[in-house]
Amino acid sequence: LKQTHTPICPKCGYDQSGEIATWETQCPLDGRCPECGLRFAWADVLDPSRVDLIWYVEHAGSKRGMLRRTPATLFKLLIPNLYWRQVGVHTRIEFKGLIVWLLMIMAVLHALAIVPVGIGNWLERTRYNAWPNGTSFEQYFQDNGVAGLLYELHNAIGAPFVRIEYQPATISYHFGGYFNLDFAASIQIPSIFLSMMTIWAVIMLVVPTTRCRAQIRGAHVMRAWLMSLVSVIFIYEVFRVALSTFWWLEGYINIMYLAISFIAMLGLSLIWLMWFWAAAIRVGWTVRPSWLLIVLGMIASLIAGFTTIMYISVYA
Ligand SMILES: [Zn+2]
Repeated sequence: LKQTHTPICPKCGYDQSGEIATWETQCPLDGRCPECGLRFAWADVLDPSRVDLIWYVEHAGSKRGMLRRTPATLFKLLIPNLYWRQVGVHTRIEFKGLIVWLLMIMAVLHALAIVPVGIGNWLERTRYNAWPNGTSFEQYFQDNGVAGLLYELHNAIGAPFVRIEYQPATISYHFGGYFNLDFAASIQIPSIFLSMMTIWAVIMLVVPTTRCRAQIRGAHVMRAWLMSLVSVIFIYEVFRVALSTFWWLEGYINIMYLAISFIAMLGLSLIWLMWFWAAAIRVGWTVRPSWLLIVLGMIASLIAGFTTIMYISVYA
């Protein structure tokens, strides 16, 4: 057997060196953690990469491999039971890979959003802002040239954080987005989801009674927290596109339908978040009994979400 790291219990993190020290004449194949009772194969504890998953981004090892594994990983994430059935306490945790993958997802979604956000910005400028009477694209290009296109590209990428304001004679740099893609508005809904997913992690790690009951090492909770960020990134980009195209769509489709489909999307995201954490506890980490912990997590998470909404409506 090849020892690649400190041998710990894959579930609770209990150091197994003492157990190994008692081996004298022969090595047993299977073991049991004296702390949490998890049964494992000693080979997996000594070399966790033995059980790497072929479809999973965290185990890809390269950016190209990550890209190839993204569809399968996203599909399994969409149905949390599928994900957690395979990503259990025995599955090796690779935080660096996970963070790189999240940044990749963020970059790709942001790049896809450039077109609708850019069109939204453009329509706002031409209809409501710089040219109250409207301007044609030809006229715009004649006045601003390639630099004008680059300004618009920059603003589509930078919204709602930074923007370049330009009139024929002046140019200046500003924090914040346009009128329709206000900074505060575009981070409100994602921050509600961020607070709800964070409270699940807090319940698992910080509250002593639940932590004691679950017997899960922090790294597993951190993995679930990082994976939940996918939903926040998704909501953020969808909301950003929705805000910037709102004025553009007005008059073409019924705004009511837009609002209803947006609320439906938020409802489904909420259900997903609850399901993801419940499945983590029950299927992934096999905590028993799990129902009390799941109900507690759901209540705390709803309270956190509601508190964030209240905070936003008072201070924003
Ligand atoms: Zn253990």
